[in-house]
Amino acid sequence: MAKIVILSCKKIRDIHCVSCIKCFKAMKEREGEFERYKNEDLEVVAMGDCGDCPGLAMPKLALINDLAKQYGRDFDTVHIGTCIVKAGATAACPINIDRLKEMIEKKMNKKVVVGTHNY
Ligand code: SF4
Ligand code: SF4
Repeated sequence: MAKIVILSCKKIRDIHCVSCIKCFKAMKEREGEFERYKNEDLEVVAMGDCGDCPGLAMPKLALINDLAKQYGRDFDTVHIGTCIVKAGATAACPINIDRLKEMIEKKMNKKVVVGTHNY
């Protein structure tokens, strides 16, 4: 069973990408970056945003991690939402995705997948 957290762009989520329907569809259909889970169960432990500009993703993720531990809802993988990936091109997002990935892997010992749906 894969247990994941999805990180989203605060400026895009529920504004241009409403109610995360796209990610929920892709998870259900095992499409995009969720195809890797096609032979296993998938549980979404949390969906949280990046903490807003200028990209407070690490402190936000630390809070998510603390709460997940407190409630016995540990997770193994963080998906950096397609919204965050697209924000780099469309919203002058200051997040350096490669660096964020590296920090999550090193400091939090979690796997990181860049992207979610491909719609
Ligand atoms: S890419 Fe996914 S996580 Fe980001 S806003 Fe859209 S549906 Fe939500
Ligand atoms: S543009 Fe980047 S830093 Fe700003 S809210 Fe979106 S993902 Fe977060």
